[in-house]
Formats: sequence, structure tokens, C-alpha cells
Amino acid sequence: MIEVENVTKTYDGETYAVNDVSFHVPEGDTVVLLGPSGCGKTTLLRMVNRLVSITGGMISVNNQDIQTQDKIQLRRNIGYVIQSNALFPNMTIEENIVVVPDMLGWSKTEKHKRYRELMELTSLDPDYYQKRYPHELSGGQQQRIGIARALAANPPVMLMDEPFGALDPILRTHIQDEFLRIQSEIKKTILFVSHDIDEAIKMGDKVAIFKEGQLMQYDTPSEILTHP
Ligand code: ADP
Ligand code: ADP
Repeated sequence: MIEVENVTKTYDGETYAVNDVSFHVPEGDTVVLLGPSGCGKTTLLRMVNRLVSITGGMISVNNQDIQTQDKIQLRRNIGYVIQSNALFPNMTIEENIVVVPDMLGWSKTEKHKRYRELMELTSLDPDYYQKRYPHELSGGQQQRIGIARALAANPPVMLMDEPFGALDPILRTHIQDEFLRIQSEIKKTILFVSHDIDEAIKMGDKVAIFKEGQLMQYDTPSEILTHP
């Protein structure tokens, strides 16, 4: 689980990008950070995997303060998906997907088994794509590979920053549905950034609404719809 306690962030020492925010993401749940551009969503997300430093307050992941954890160790437990997942252009799809297991020293057999599992999970044909390169895939397929790559070493926590934002509306709806199916199997603890209320309501167990760095409302989707 992820706990965020009285967290603040200022980049310039004056204005707060994130201002005294507290909430938690229960194990296996998805919390969507919702709000307009510039309200601090990405800053908050990137503080969790220490891509951005914390100015004040505390974040813990799996009951451990992230500041006291080794960064590499912390990031092993956290999958990270962004809007345009830059796949490595000179690596095959299989090599792209197992890049983290490879760093962790998994055997060739283990890596290939994991590749096949993840392709099946994301409904892509493992034999067809194995030797292909990212430029041979559509944007939607590349994004699915990006998600598979983030899941490869089976991290308990996922940070997803507008993961479907670059896709056209029809494909986005399809991939949202597919990801909900995947999540019902894998039950990751997910922090998910979106500026789209429909997406937040669809994907979130809870929705955290932000405005100018502050948490305005933290509720279930049905509560958000009935008491906006
Ligand atoms: P969102 O993800 O909601 O669009 P951000 O977290 O990207 O919001 O930005 C929150 C605020 O912090 C904005 O005012 C933005 O300009 C500022 N900001 C974000 N990143 C930086 C940075 N690296 N340096 C200075 N200011 C930043
Ligand atoms: P997004 O909203 O998709 O995260 P941005 O264009 O806001 O993308 O941010 C791209 C990069 O620029 C990020 O690394 C962010 O931290 C940085 N950034 C955003 N706002 C500022 C800012 N006001 N000053 C400096 N860097 C910023």
C-alpha cells in the first residue's frame, strides 16, 4: 500500500506544486489523481518513486518510508507507465519486455516464460511479436507493451501517468477495459493520473480530486458522481 502524509512540494521555495496532501492507496486498489493540467498530479506521482524530491511530509510504500529505502530497491517494487512509453527502438519486443528481469539476472528460460505470460495477459500473440521491433507496432500496441514491460518483474505497486492519454478515443476505451480485466487478475496497488473525469470514474476504486496542489475531495466514484 501507499501512504501519503502531509506531503508538500515546492520547486522554487515559494509556490506549492503540492500543498499538504494526505491520502492512502489500499493494497490492490487503484486511486486516480484527477485534476486539470498543472495541479500537481505528476509531481505527486513522481515523488512516490523518488524521481522528484519531497519538500515536506512523508510517503511510505509497503509500510516503509521511501526516504529510508535504497532508490534502486524502491523502484524494483514500483512499475512506472507514462503516456508515451519510449520502447528501446533497437531491441525486439521480447527484449524490451524483459529488460528489468534481464538486469535482475533472470535466466533465459525464466525471461522467455515471463515474456509469454505477459503477452497472453495483454492479448498479444507472443510468437508473432517476439522478433519484431517497436516501429512495426501501432501506438496502441506499443502502449500495451509498455504496460507489460512495467509488470515484467511483478512489482506490487504501479504508477501510471496518463497511460492511455496518447490513444484515440475508441482505442482508449478498449485498452481501459482490457486493463481493468488485467487488474482484476493481478491486483496491483495503483496510483493513476488522469485529467479525464470519465476515465477516473471508470478506473478508480477511489478518486482524489486536485486543484492547485491541494486535495479537494477523496471519494469513491459513486460518491463523486452523487456529490460533485
Ligand atoms: P500536473 O501533472 O497536474 O499537470 P505538475 O505536477 O506537472 O502538474 O505541475 C504542478 C506545478 O509544478 C505546475 O505549476 C508546474 O509548472 C510545476 N512544475 C512541475 N515540474 C516542475 C519542475 N521540474 N520545475 C519547476 N516547476 C515544476
Ligand atoms: P506532463 O504534464 O505530461 O508531465 P510537462 O510538460 O508538464 O508534462 O512536463 C515535462 C517535464 O518538464 C517534466 O519533467 C516536468 O517536471 C518539467 N516541468 C514542468 N513544468 C515545469 C516548470 N514550470 N519548470 C521546469 N520544469 C517543468
